[in-house]
Amino acid sequence: MAFNLEARLAERRAASLYRQRPLLSTPQGPEVVVDGKPLLAFCNNDYLGLANHPEVIAAWRAGAERWGVGGGASHLVIGHSTPHHALEEALADLTGRPRALLFSTGYMANLGAITALVGQGDSVLEDRLNHASLLDAGLLSGARFSRYLHNDPASLRARLAKASGDTLVVTDGVFSMDGDLANLPALAGEAKAHGAWLMVDDAHGFGVLGAQGGGAAEHFGLGLEELPVLVGTLGKAFGTAGAFVAGSEALIECLVQFARPYIYTTSQPPALACATLKSVELARAQGWRREHLAALVRQFRAGACALGLTLMPSETPIQPIVLGSSARAMAWSQQLRERGLLVTAIRPPTVPAGSARLRVTLSAAHTEAQVTRLLEGLAECQALAEPADA
Ligand SMILES: *Cc1c(COP(=O)(O)O)cnc(C)c1O
Repeated sequence: MAFNLEARLAERRAASLYRQRPLLSTPQGPEVVVDGKPLLAFCNNDYLGLANHPEVIAAWRAGAERWGVGGGASHLVIGHSTPHHALEEALADLTGRPRALLFSTGYMANLGAITALVGQGDSVLEDRLNHASLLDAGLLSGARFSRYLHNDPASLRARLAKASGDTLVVTDGVFSMDGDLANLPALAGEAKAHGAWLMVDDAHGFGVLGAQGGGAAEHFGLGLEELPVLVGTLGKAFGTAGAFVAGSEALIECLVQFARPYIYTTSQPPALACATLKSVELARAQGWRREHLAALVRQFRAGACALGLTLMPSETPIQPIVLGSSARAMAWSQQLRERGLLVTAIRPPTVPAGSARLRVTLSAAHTEAQVTRLLEGLAECQALAEPADA
């Protein structure tokens, strides 16, 4: 039997689901050049504008001079260096947890934490809109896997009643494609009442929520008791790369012993940890970035509402405009691009069928005038597109 790859690709194209990688030839920022065209972008996750910050770049450069460029080995062999350790201490401090453990990516942190904590005979309960890495990890763990209705504590309660073994409840803190905030106090209450543990992946909350940028846990004031397993990523608001799990001494030691994506991989470059240490410091100290971002979110929502666009109940910098079909989302994205604006269309299976959307993301690096330009572009798209495809 031959693999028929061409047929699979043709089918994907026909369904308006074909994915392409825009080629970026500038650093991240509001003004980019993509596929040779200068564009004003609203689609990265660099929420605080730190990915191209001169002090973070200088820290990376100095880190490379001092520590070289490669991790050299896994953490357990001889790849765990002083900058990694210092970054773990800074992240433990930011999260108010006894310890934090650095992973090379968020995908690996989620795979590592879930597969280390639950297995056959256990249960893992996940929000149905969780990030793909959490869903994959739940399936891979071998635990009984079930999904509850989006952000619905009653639905979680019904599943908890049927769960057996060690039970892990897993949710995004801020949902990556919708931008809404999980009702963590209620979910934590349900988990605790059933002796289950709550794990929150706050990839999009860290840096953005909480007075210090401590994310959804800081926003809701949730400590170790209510929220024993807290995951954050470093490639979004912190602007660099990597991820961490924060929690108790015993949790972190367990991950060091049993989390395979932690054990069997080379540590991230120590110079990268130096850069992240600087970006975490800036993210904590520079509250004005969060304030400016919140003002842009308010400006965008007010403007989009005035246009009659369908927004989601999100107070975060993730502001999707739901358009329905994949073809319609692609057409709007294309119209915006012709107007010098880059907003990516997000289609199934990343989002549920019939809810294709433009995923607008705002950053503290944007100006008010740039958000105004986006709103003008959207108004033009609407005037053009609506009679034809409504
Ligand atoms: C981006 C993301 C991840 C993956 O993190 P990486 O460091 O990019 O691998 C995990 N969870 C959520 C919710 C994310 O948005």
